Amino acid sequence: MIIDCHTHTPRPDAIVNIGPDGKPLLPYSYSVGIHPWDAAKATDTDMERICSLAESPNVIAIGETGLDAIHRDSLPRQEELFRRHIDLSERLHKPLILHVVRSIDDILAIHKETHPTQAWIIHGFRGKPQQARQLTKAGLYLSFGERFNPESITSTPPEQRLIETDTSNLLIETIAANTGISPALAASNLTSVLNRQNVSTP
Ligand SMILES: [Zn+2]
Repeated sequence: MIIDCHTHTPRPDAIVNIGPDGKPLLPYSYSVGIHPWDAAKATDTDMERICSLAESPNVIAIGETGLDAIHRDSLPRQEELFRRHIDLSERLHKPLILHVVRSIDDILAIHKETHPTQAWIIHGFRGKPQQARQLTKAGLYLSFGERFNPESITSTPPEQRLIETDTSNLLIETIAANTGISPALAASNLTSVLNRQNVSTP
């Protein structure tokens, strides 16, 4: 049972994030993608490598990908790679894990434009309640980790709440206790994300 939707440390109860040089070794489950911070230096060969790794049965999600406006210079390349990750997610029917910094409006616009069948999960969500409402209304899932705005959790429908450890030293059980999102709820939400086939988002 997978509870932790995003980490960089191999663990059995988590989706372990790897990049183009990673190896999706059993018995773990993985997500594979080019992080927006690496967009500037990422080559097309890296993207091809992501596409081939993504075919592995134990790669169960695509990402992390997305937009980070703090890294302003690479934004055009970030968006280009982000769109290729969206295509991959749709083609392989695997959900998308997003890293989003100061780009919520752009993410919402691209979500509306591409109208994906797969779930999009914003990982490490620290935004405001108003943004949580906007994103979840559009059908996105929000994953909460070590740092979060408690009001944003209350503004997220229970069925769209996920939890993660990411790079934190805290245990997922501690994150669950801190956020008030139980491991059982997180696991069941993640199961519906992973089992979704071709359900269109609103
Ligand atoms: Zn991460």
